[in-house]
Amino acid sequence: MGIEFSPYPKSKQLKRRTTPTKKVRTKITDKEYNRMIDEFGEFCVMCGRTPIEAHHIVFRSHFGSGNWRNLAPLCDKCHKKAHRQREFADLIRDMRSERFGSNFWKDKYSLYKEGLIPDTEDETYESFMLEEEKRQ
Ligand SMILES: [Zn+2]
Ligand SMILES: [Zn+2]
Repeated sequence: MGIEFSPYPKSKQLKRRTTPTKKVRTKITDKEYNRMIDEFGEFCVMCGRTPIEAHHIVFRSHFGSGNWRNLAPLCDKCHKKAHRQREFADLIRDMRSERFGSNFWKDKYSLYKEGLIPDTEDETYESFMLEEEKRQ
């Protein structure tokens, strides 16, 4: 056995995470955006206007995921309202919980950390979410 060389300095290696950063976990990918449109349409879910923006129903600051289940197409006006008026934001959350269950906004890492799923595979996450929806 010779001397092993690391490609990165030790200090950087220690900073490597097993769970991605919040920024990554809450990001809306094109795939999730398009899935949101497929599911909820290209009109504001609250008033029917266009154009729409993708809103995190549970905010990114609270680890609301970038999964389509936590996204709602909202017009500019309703989007602002969702960030300014607590009751309006809660109403959107309640509507979503009624359909997908109270865990709708969590990503696979949140579910895993809470012991709700046994691993962080996409398939495990997806089947948990489908079961939750069936239970509503
Ligand atoms: Zn609207
Ligand atoms: Zn928003």
